[in-house]
Amino acid sequence: MSRISALFDLQQTDSRIDAANSRIAYLTQLLEDNALVESARQTVSEAEAALVKSRSSLKELEDAAQKLQQHANDLEKKLYGGQIKGNKEMAAAQLEIETFRQRKKETDDKTVEAMLGLEEAEATLKAAKESLVQAAKTTAQGQVNHRRERDELEAALVLLQVERAKRLKMVMPPDLPVYDKIRQQKQGVAVAEVMYGKMCGKCRVELPLAKQKEIKGGTYIVLCPSCGRILYHKF
Ligand SMILES: [Zn+2]
Repeated sequence: MSRISALFDLQQTDSRIDAANSRIAYLTQLLEDNALVESARQTVSEAEAALVKSRSSLKELEDAAQKLQQHANDLEKKLYGGQIKGNKEMAAAQLEIETFRQRKKETDDKTVEAMLGLEEAEATLKAAKESLVQAAKTTAQGQVNHRRERDELEAALVLLQVERAKRLKMVMPPDLPVYDKIRQQKQGVAVAEVMYGKMCGKCRVELPLAKQKEIKGGTYIVLCPSCGRILYHKF
């Protein structure tokens, strides 16, 4: 194994480790994301509040109608029981009875509307609860898959770390800080494979002839003049 192929092998393992870690981070984020259920739960509580309001409006109207009916009945009893005397007083009582009846009729109309509103609020709540169950089911199913994938990746990472330790031993000690520094500067990729014997596989720039000769030895580090990565030539 050449000095540079040891670095290339290490790079391959490190890239796989980076990919696994980034996928694990993404899956963890998905596992913590409960937005679908939260939003469905919010809709349920809004529908519950609307239903409570509908019920109390209906109750108020029913009470009001009952009171108006009671007033009209009481007054009628007085009028026809002879408790109200005098034409003027009797006419006034008659008018009052009619007013109560008119208001009762208006209240009854509103009650019918309120009943329809209540039915609608009940249907909305039922639908919201069904959506919540569905959201919880969808989220739970997704989380089972995400958790399984994360577990598999974590198991794979353990093996990759073992592989990394082995490959690290093959790297010449002075090359490691160079590798680490370039990896840090170049989004995790310190080693670029040369393509067609003359092109940097990472930045795709054609290498000068002198460089092409140098890299074929594989005995010392040659950097890409364009992207600055360690060039590796496979034989
Ligand atoms: Zn390059």
